[in-house]
Amino acid sequence: MIFNDIGHINRYFAAYALQEGFSIKKGHTTSLKTYHVYCKCHGKPKNSRNLPSVVGVEINGKKRVREPRTRLCDCQWQVRFKQQFNEQYVLVKFIDEHTHPMEKEDAILYAENRQTNEQGMQLMRILKQTSATYQEIANVVNSTTGSKLLARDVYNRTRDVPRGPAKSKKLKPFVKKKNDV
Ligand SMILES: [Zn+2]
Repeated sequence: MIFNDIGHINRYFAAYALQEGFSIKKGHTTSLKTYHVYCKCHGKPKNSRNLPSVVGVEINGKKRVREPRTRLCDCQWQVRFKQQFNEQYVLVKFIDEHTHPMEKEDAILYAENRQTNEQGMQLMRILKQTSATYQEIANVVNSTTGSKLLARDVYNRTRDVPRGPAKSKKLKPFVKKKNDV
């Protein structure tokens, strides 16, 4: 497997992961000439308070109350590329094993799999300035561009755009202010 550049590698494996039902984290270089792509679940969850791994079990007076909110489960899926003298990247390592189930139906649960294009971004920014709700904006962008955005993606990606006038609200009944006598 040979790729001309890192961008090409990232795009290929992002699409592959979406199809298979997982998500990648990219950009790991162990040296100038190697490039690593891992499953997003690669790595061990942080446990700075040193709690037991199982909820409800008490060890040394410490007890975990909630399930940890992390996807990190030391997943081993990874690809490693080595750059050749001609600048191309050649696949040198491929571990095709996950320590977690694939989310084929719910691959959009990973934010990385909910991308949109330039047209979608523009549309989002224009609609933000109307009275449309975030869900309505997501619906329009999705049906126009084939994206799979959620309402919160619209919110997160248009924070710098001022909101349009809100839908007409009922006027509040007159409330006497503190300063009024
Ligand atoms: Zn994985």
